[in-house]
Amino acid sequence: MFCIHKGIIIVPPVKEDSGIKAYPFDISQVILNSGRWQQNQDRTLAYLKFVDINRLLYVFRSNHRLSTNGAQANGGWDAPDFPFRSHFQGHFLTAWAQCYAQLRDTICRDRATAFTAELLKCQANNPAAGFSTGYLSGFPESDITALEQGRLSNSNVPYYAIHKTMAGLLNVWRNIGDTNAKTVLLAMAGWVDGRTSKFNNQQMQKILGTEFGGMSEVLSDIYFQTGDERWLTVAQRFHHSAVLDPLANGRDQLNGLHANTQVPKWIGAARAFKATGNTTYQNIAKNAWEITTTAHTYAIGGNSQAEHFRAPNAIANYLNKDTAESCNSYNMLKLTRELWVMDPSSTTYFDYYERVITNQMIGQQNPADHHGHVTYFHSLQPGARRGVGPAWGGGTYSTDYNSFWCCQGTGIETNTKLMDSIYFHDESSVYVNLFTPSMLDWSQRSVTLTQTTTFPNSDTTTLKVNGTGDWNMHIRIPSWTSGAKISINGQDSGVITTSGSYASISRSWTSGDTVTVQLPMNFRLLPTNDNKSLTAVAYGPVVIVGNYGSSTVNSNPTLSLSTLKRSSSDNLEFTAIAGGKMINLSPYLDAQGFNYVTYWMTSGSLP
Ligand SMILES: [Zn+2]
Repeated sequence: MFCIHKGIIIVPPVKEDSGIKAYPFDISQVILNSGRWQQNQDRTLAYLKFVDINRLLYVFRSNHRLSTNGAQANGGWDAPDFPFRSHFQGHFLTAWAQCYAQLRDTICRDRATAFTAELLKCQANNPAAGFSTGYLSGFPESDITALEQGRLSNSNVPYYAIHKTMAGLLNVWRNIGDTNAKTVLLAMAGWVDGRTSKFNNQQMQKILGTEFGGMSEVLSDIYFQTGDERWLTVAQRFHHSAVLDPLANGRDQLNGLHANTQVPKWIGAARAFKATGNTTYQNIAKNAWEITTTAHTYAIGGNSQAEHFRAPNAIANYLNKDTAESCNSYNMLKLTRELWVMDPSSTTYFDYYERVITNQMIGQQNPADHHGHVTYFHSLQPGARRGVGPAWGGGTYSTDYNSFWCCQGTGIETNTKLMDSIYFHDESSVYVNLFTPSMLDWSQRSVTLTQTTTFPNSDTTTLKVNGTGDWNMHIRIPSWTSGAKISINGQDSGVITTSGSYASISRSWTSGDTVTVQLPMNFRLLPTNDNKSLTAVAYGPVVIVGNYGSSTVNSNPTLSLSTLKRSSSDNLEFTAIAGGKMINLSPYLDAQGFNYVTYWMTSGSLP
């Protein structure tokens, strides 16, 4: 058992976001209860506690001329000869901090603080290593000089790695209160200021042609955390005009761009709007989200093929092995949260969030692996199989010490913050955005809300209130349902439920009040934008795929829509006739250990 502290960000930001109408709960206020999300979290938690921090420190210590203490070097993207080694460790810092914040897990806390104490020593040894004050990474500072002088190799992205470390340190400072994290982070930020202040905007724009991750986001966040406007000035140097200016005007010029390089810039724009009130930043973030989710997104919620955006609405010809890079969706979910809090009456944002998290993100993890390893891409090619083939072609799961890809890093973050977007609040209301077993400690009102459900296997969820008071409960009624029903204490509530809107209950609550929400599910088609006869199939929010066992499938089979039938009342299991044969279908997220088909040609119409 763990005790829950009362909704405390240990070191809260000095400045609050402006321009928002709803607020996230701190992740210390929500826990997951028994279910698939909690199982994913448990597996990732086991990995976070297993990993040897001396191995993670190897490239930092080696680069900063300290002893590596006999530790073995890592492989994969953290190997001593990998260009942007040390990008991964910031993900561990964030994941450890999140586990401490939500579970008060002291093992994770101690790992994070032990790690930052060692990073402090690395940074302090900069004079001996020949680096500038504040510099910190696993690769030499001369890589930054090479970037500035336009002679860095194409495969190297030093600021991408620096951002990950800074984001991890910020999370350890905020959620654990670790002063070493603060010291190291502010020294790094000062170093970034020093490196970038000498360039004019034109020179800076050239530097920004190389992927730089969430530098604008983290520097804005350091401004919020400290209240020091210096960091906002530094953040704004990372405004990449070539990508962001067309988006400010709603123009889709994403074709050919590396996708995951861009999404963090849009999050940075959302953070800049909340810091400055400048609506150009807001337009960039909103338009980028709109363009990506409508013109570049697959049925499972992901975007990109071979890591790149294609032409607007070009989907059907890109159903390849290397679709839907996981990092892009991790970042799109962060962007979605940023936008929804500005416009909480719209369910569009959380309809998308639900689609991504339910299908792609939960399904990214291998449930048979007790360290919760993940895939990089999500193959949408007919006959795809998770865990097989090269990582960049479908494919294999990450490993303990020989992968350390970007998507493994965002995966350990995702699986330790699954609870962060279920509930939100404003002065008079709680919002229920996602349906999964969980408990909210709404400490501001001395209320707890316990959500019990087997959703999406069942279409019903219950929300039990403990505590009293007059407040509103806003429940997202997804656009995919029709005929949703809400009852209170077993009686029909008469609350209006319109698909694609929030149902609102205003009430003087008493302990034990129970709200039951039924969201009827039906089959739905999710055709590709550019070929309406090529389609994925969903049941409610869940994309379902055909199970082809070990059979080879070379093209999209023809599914007889009228034959689709649910074959289990407890689980999402289905049958249908495709290509003249009876097949079993089940959720995309559970398509593990067999060849699957996500997109179909079709005949007939849905039952
Ligand atoms: Zn990735």
